[in-house]
Order: sequence, then structure tokens, then C-alpha cells
Amino acid sequence: MQEAPGYGAKGSDTEVGRVVIVGGGTAGWMAAAAFSRFLNNGRRKITVVESDAIGTVGVGEATIPPIITFNSMLDIDENEFLRATRGTFKLGIEFVNWGRIGDRYFHPFGNFGQDIHGIPFHQLWLRERRRSDPGSIAEYCMSAMAAAQGRFGRPARDARPPLSALSYAFHFDAGLYAQFLRKRAEREGVKRQEGTIANVEREGETGDVAAVVLESGERIAGDLFIDCSGFRGLLIEQALGAGFEDWSHWLPCDRAIAMPTANVTSPQPFTRSTAHPAGWQWRIPLQHRTGNGHVYSSHYMDDDDATRILLANLEGQALAEPRPIGFATGRRKLAWSHNVIALGLSSGFLEPLESTSIHLIQNGISRLLALFPGKPISPVERDEFNRGMQATYEDVRDFLILHYKATQRDDTPFWRYVRDMPIPETLERRIELWKLHARVFRNEGELFAVPSWVAVLLGQNIQPLGYDPIADSLDEERVAGAISQLRRDYRQAAANLPSQEQFLRMSGAWA
Ligand code: FAD
Repeated sequence: MQEAPGYGAKGSDTEVGRVVIVGGGTAGWMAAAAFSRFLNNGRRKITVVESDAIGTVGVGEATIPPIITFNSMLDIDENEFLRATRGTFKLGIEFVNWGRIGDRYFHPFGNFGQDIHGIPFHQLWLRERRRSDPGSIAEYCMSAMAAAQGRFGRPARDARPPLSALSYAFHFDAGLYAQFLRKRAEREGVKRQEGTIANVEREGETGDVAAVVLESGERIAGDLFIDCSGFRGLLIEQALGAGFEDWSHWLPCDRAIAMPTANVTSPQPFTRSTAHPAGWQWRIPLQHRTGNGHVYSSHYMDDDDATRILLANLEGQALAEPRPIGFATGRRKLAWSHNVIALGLSSGFLEPLESTSIHLIQNGISRLLALFPGKPISPVERDEFNRGMQATYEDVRDFLILHYKATQRDDTPFWRYVRDMPIPETLERRIELWKLHARVFRNEGELFAVPSWVAVLLGQNIQPLGYDPIADSLDEERVAGAISQLRRDYRQAAANLPSQEQFLRMSGAWA
């Protein structure tokens, strides 16, 4: 039988047999755990090179629901994972002071209500709002209602509505997550090599990376290199010069001050994002501490003021000194160049407003598994990877820009700038479509679903002129009855759940 190219026996000329992962942060160990699970088969040698002297970026604590799929692909027991990472559940993000100072809205995971005859629930709710007071749209979301009461329940596989509609992700200590994945990857045969890379060797003819050389002189050769070296992009940028597309004119925040504090209450099952004069502050509750950080634009605010604002808005006792981190917003023009694929911060960065970075790592890993190359690398597979990553980054970018563009704040130069700035045409079109008949059109495979767009648009007071006339095809009285029943059901179901801490303890997920 003839072997398919790229999947020949060990040592075959057409198989990528040696995979070198440069970097052991969240990206490096997520990649190592996934590749050893799905690609190893005893045939490939996977090495992770990481430098204790350089360390990791050390932030990144909030996630979105697809992480559940990643963990289950690796057969990770959720309670064991939560114990190991001191994790908590996340049901969405509360945004404070974003539309106007004093405003508060919730971007929940999961759906609003239920579509009826294919008509989106938010259209029915908008119609009902014209004749009665159906309350906030968040009252029709299981995750939002549970979050509002600080409660949580994991929907069983056979759960019925409304609990089956609860959707969740996690907050966790990303350093502990990397350690957790490292143990699994090493069990599967991944080799860890400690040391700082001092030199990158390239092949003369193809320009591919042939090996990385450590300060100790040790040489690690490979067929495929995964650049997980963080912002520095050691291979993809420093060696290959893939280029960077800068998006800071749309997302002007470029610095953060991070600082953990002691918990003052039982951890809440949601992230909070509070807008400040030139950026915003995150609050991420874990089991053993709360992660906080102030993300801001250095064009409008200096580090001292940013630190002062952060310190003035903390709830618990500081557990470390404030730590500044600089970043550039944008994406690597080619996430895959030659035989190097960038994952994580080396492939680009979008501020953590919607907790998307770890997801972008996951997305890159899944995409690479779907397009895993043979030797020589086919440009078709490489281009498809780059095309997909570009589209994914641009979709997330537009959703983040919406949060700024949709502000009514005019109290500082920062907010006036983002309110008035020109935005990508793709986003402009979406906002215009929404303003007419509250319609949301998404790109195929786009990460954020219709309810996410609805939550932010309505939450930031972008009211549509009207609803989709198709909603008028349903009987008004019957829909009104169904809507108010749903509202009662969600409220009741949330009230029956335990607090998130009780749930974590009952499930054996509390460390
Ligand atoms: P890093 O953690 O920087 O790891 C790089 C690795 O490369 C390290 O092991 C380092 O030792 C190694 N390395 C580098 N150079 C060399 C060398 N010369 N030789 C050998 N090894 C080398 N994401 C989320 O999903 N949710 C969040 O809430 C979130 N919050 C964030 C807040 C801020 C302020 C920032 C900046 C990021 C945030 N992120 C968040 C992003 C998240 O932190 C990263 O996506 C994630 O940690 C992955 O980082 P990484 O592994 O790509 O890089």
C-alpha cells in the first residue's frame, strides 16, 4: 500500500518527525499537550525549549467557553483542572462605566432566550419592549441570571432548559495551567529542554529554520518549529521578519499594570471590566486571590497615574508590587512563515478585554492540527493557515473596537478619540445594519455569536431604530406570554443554584 505523503513510517523523508516548540508559557505547553496527544504516536519527537532566566509573561487568567472543548480533547477532568489551577467558573463579563459613567451591563456566555420559528429572541424582545416593560435582556439569559446572584451549576449532559442554557468558561492561574499541561505532555513523551536560545540557524537554500542553539552551545534541530516565545517572536520575527500589522490606531491601549490582591468575598463567577479615564481595569476572582490590572494608553496616561488609579480601585490587600507590562496591538502578517508557526503572543496580541488570547492559541493549535504539514511544506496548507488566522484576528479585533467606538463618554481625550475615530469598514457596516433593524450578520466561523454583539450594542446604548419586521409574523400575545414565562423560569432556576464557592467545594474542585 502506498503511504500518504507526510504520514510515512518513522524517519520517512516526507514526514515532519521533529517538532521543536520554542517557549514554555501558556502557548508552548498548550501546544505540547495537544501535539503529544494527537500527533505523537511514538513517531514524532516533540521538544519544548524554555528559559527559566527569561520566564513567562505571567498574566492571562480569564477564558471563554471553547476552552472546555480544548480541555476535553485532552481528556482533562474538569474538577482536577480547577483544583490544580485554583480556577473558578466564569459566566461572562460585567462592564462598568463603558457606555456612560454609571452604566453597567453584562456580556454573558450563552444565548438570550430562545428563538421562535427561527426568529432571533432579541427581535421578539425588542418588539415586546415597544408595548410593555420586559426588563433587561440579561434577564433572559441563564448565565447572566446565575452570575447576578453569584451562583453556579454545571449543566449535566441531560440537563433540561433553562439550566441546559447555562454556558461557562474559567478564570485560572495561567502559570499553574501551563504546569498542569506540562505534566501531561511530559507523560506523553514530550522532552523539556531548559536553556536560553542564543542563535537561530537557517538552511542556506530554503531559508527554513534548521536549528536553535542554546547559550550552552547545545543545538536542537527540527523539521517544524512552533514559535511560542512571547512578544519577542524569536523565530517568526527576529529570525524570519514576518512583519507586524499594527492596530493601535483602533485599539490605542498599549500598557498594563497588573497586581493580585487577597479575596475580600467569596469569588464571583464573572470577570469585571471597569472603564477608567484612559483605559479599563480587570478584576478576575480565583479561588485563592483576585487578579487585577489596569490596561491603558500611554499616549493619554503615564505609568504613575495608571498605578495610582489601579491602587485606588482595588478591593483587597495587595499581594505583590504593581507590575507594568508593555504590549503592541496587532497581528503578525504571516503567522506561518517557512517552517515556523507562531502561536500565542508571538503571533499577535489583542488586549484582554474579551479574554481572547488563550482562545487564539487554542484556535491556532486546532487549525495547525487540521493542516499539519508533510515535508516539504505545501504552500497551500501554509496559506490556508495564514488566511484563517488573519480572519480570526480581524473578527476579534472588530468586536473589541466596538466596545470603544460605542461609547458615549466624552469626559477625557482618550474617550473622545475612540468615540470619534474611523473604524474598519467591516465593523462600520455591522453597526449600520444593527441601527436599522437590529440585525447582526456574522462571518462564517466567527468566534463571537449574535448574543455577544447584541449584549455589547444594547449594553452601550446603541439602540436600533426598529426591529426586524419578520417578528410581526408571530402572534404578539402568545409571544408576550412565552417571554414572561421564560423570565420567570430563568430567575427561578438561578435562585435554585448554590453559590459558586459551594458548588466548587461540593464538586471537589476547591483546592
Ligand atoms: P509567554 O508567557 O511570554 O512565554 C514565552 C516563553 O518563551 C517563555 O517560556 C520564555 O521563557 C520563552 N522564551 C522566550 N525567549 C526565549 C529564548 N531566547 N530562549 C528560550 N526560551 C525563550 N489572555 C487571556 O486569554 N485572558 C486574559 O485574561 C489575558 N490577560 C492578559 C493581560 C495582559 C496585560 C497581557 C499582556 C496578556 C494577557 N493575556 C490574556 C494573554 C496571555 O497572557 C497570553 O496569551 C498567554 O500567557 C500566552 O503567552 P505566551 O505563551 O505566548 O508567551
